[in-house]
Amino acid sequence: MDKLSQPLPRLDAGQTLLFDADDTLWENNIYFEKAITSFISYLDHRVYTPEEVRGHLNQVEHATITAQGYGLKSFRQSLITCFEQLTASPISDEKHRRIVSFAESIADQEIELLSGVRETLPELASRQRCIMVTKGDIHEQTDKLARSGLRGLFAAVEVLPEKHEDAYRSLSAHHACDAATTWMIGNSPKSDINPALAAGLHAVFIPHDFTWVLEHEVVNQPRPGQRLLELGAFSELRSIF
Ligand SMILES: [Mg+2]
Repeated sequence: MDKLSQPLPRLDAGQTLLFDADDTLWENNIYFEKAITSFISYLDHRVYTPEEVRGHLNQVEHATITAQGYGLKSFRQSLITCFEQLTASPISDEKHRRIVSFAESIADQEIELLSGVRETLPELASRQRCIMVTKGDIHEQTDKLARSGLRGLFAAVEVLPEKHEDAYRSLSAHHACDAATTWMIGNSPKSDINPALAAGLHAVFIPHDFTWVLEHEVVNQPRPGQRLLELGAFSELRSIF
């Protein structure tokens, strides 16, 4: 992977830049981590350590997402299921309300753009075609985009149930993306980088310190003719595009 130790000439205008949103444009996972910490402390399990509870929650989340998709409703269900599975007693109304409140606290968060996004994205959008490509609940994701103030910078917005190779292939066809000039930019090896490379696109990996554990994966090597860059900060995009 190119780490950009030396500056490259800026690419021509007319590239298509596909942007992930959560933890690429704005903070997201830190709010889930806070909610999970509150949940584990509320559960206060007598036998399982916090790490063991977290491990079990990860498994429950994986199963819930497979059945119901991503989003807050799914997350809320995972907390409830995890609580029920780790405590023998049926869940009381009061406990149910408390657990739901941990998930609801995420919905109340202001949109916090990541460093450099507010200054850099308008500049990129003036030269290149920008498309937002996120996954999750369509109402939650479009609401976050509206509140971010960034909607006007995107030529199109895609909220997909899952970001796998086929999803990238069909959105590339739908938006007439030329693989030679199309780049997927994101923080997740599993959802952004690897499937985009598999679909023949270029990719820019911008790691986030608190990427969700279910998004972790080893970054694959690009094939001949493909480019894969790793950047330390969003603002570095302006020297490339
Ligand atoms: Mg992301």
